[in-house]
Amino acid sequence: MRPLSDQSPETLRASLAVLQERYAVLKGRGLKLDMTRGKPAPEQLDLSEGLLALPGNRDHFTEAGEDARNYGGIQGLAEVRRLFSGVLGAPPEQIAVGNNSSLALMHDCLVYALLKGVPGGAGPWSREGEIRFLCPVPGYDRHFALCETYGIIMERVPMTPDGPDMGAVEDRVRDPRVKGMWCVPQYSNPGGETYADDTVERLAGMRTGAPDFRLFWDNAYALHHLTEHRPVLRNVLEAAAAAGQPERPFVFASTSKVTLAGAGLAFFAASPANLRWYLANVGKRSIGPDKLNQLRHARFLAQEGALDRLMESHRRLLAPKFKAVTDTLERHLAGTGAARWTIPQGGYFILLEVPEGCASRVVELAAGCGLAMTPAGATHPYGRDPQDRTLRLAPSYPSLAEVEAAAEVIALCTLLAATEARIR
Ligand code: PLP
Repeated sequence: MRPLSDQSPETLRASLAVLQERYAVLKGRGLKLDMTRGKPAPEQLDLSEGLLALPGNRDHFTEAGEDARNYGGIQGLAEVRRLFSGVLGAPPEQIAVGNNSSLALMHDCLVYALLKGVPGGAGPWSREGEIRFLCPVPGYDRHFALCETYGIIMERVPMTPDGPDMGAVEDRVRDPRVKGMWCVPQYSNPGGETYADDTVERLAGMRTGAPDFRLFWDNAYALHHLTEHRPVLRNVLEAAAAAGQPERPFVFASTSKVTLAGAGLAFFAASPANLRWYLANVGKRSIGPDKLNQLRHARFLAQEGALDRLMESHRRLLAPKFKAVTDTLERHLAGTGAARWTIPQGGYFILLEVPEGCASRVVELAAGCGLAMTPAGATHPYGRDPQDRTLRLAPSYPSLAEVEAAAEVIALCTLLAATEARIR
């Protein structure tokens, strides 16, 4: 297809009329599709159905001989910490297992930091006046929402294929008001980037104005490959320790998209001093986590290679949905200059970039055809994308047939919005 920018106003007007007709046809189909959130599909949850029968009748003793039904065990079961030690890149003694949501652990760490401070700091962050977090953009809306709800100013830093733009990061962290940074280091949400070794090392070792600066290292997609290509992320805890900054990373992960999104396990891993700090705080909050769920996971994933096999089954369900979207975009939009999109190697999202000023129009047009998309702007702090051009597509939850239909809608709405914009 010829780029829209090379087409005469008459040709563009003629194409617009055709696109509007196709839009009317799609609208008439009464679709009801949802591509808003990166939720696992029911078939993915079915892969872990076996968990529901575990740990089984009278199987409630941990390997340490503790009764998992009772209070206590604030750090989590040793057998589970061992099982996920490789994923977290930390020895089991530097890991804590929480309940189902890593986002909740991130929230809690942020609140403990605000109310009580962190090791190596001068006291509660909330007593220091205005504080700031660096936010690689595009990024994860729930990270931004945490900052917003606690009044932490967000500073954008651009993403590159190797992770955040380190020149910008190193420049901004010299400001002592910058206390932290959000990082999704592998298969980033939403751009799918995996941080290069050099990026991880620079983040781990950079000079910061705040002595108690923390990387909120949200490794949500550590296991979520979509292809045979498996990048190996540099271990941030090791890099930070080697750079003399062992307390810098707070590492988070969960099994939300491994086992059950609403009933998985969440993890916190950090230096010994950070872990003591975390456990001291969490020990006030709770008398102990759900250890039966931990035991259930330990039993379910006990066999050698069980975790890899489970992730391979997820990949088989997810990869065709991602391909359906990118193939459809390619078929309708290649060469038009109306969009650019990622072909992710892992994670849960495709990033779609449309011409400046068109993203909200695409969402509006898609809604008109019965397709709910993530709101334009959600990938930016405060929900504001100054260029109104970034969209996040989440193909995991709908069925393959629905994803195919949704991708047709997105391609058409993108072309329609881009054509309208050129005529305007
Ligand atoms: N972190 C990232 C980057 C995510 O994309 C998501 C979910 O989409 C989460 C965290 C949520 O994790 P959890 O279910 O463990 O709270």
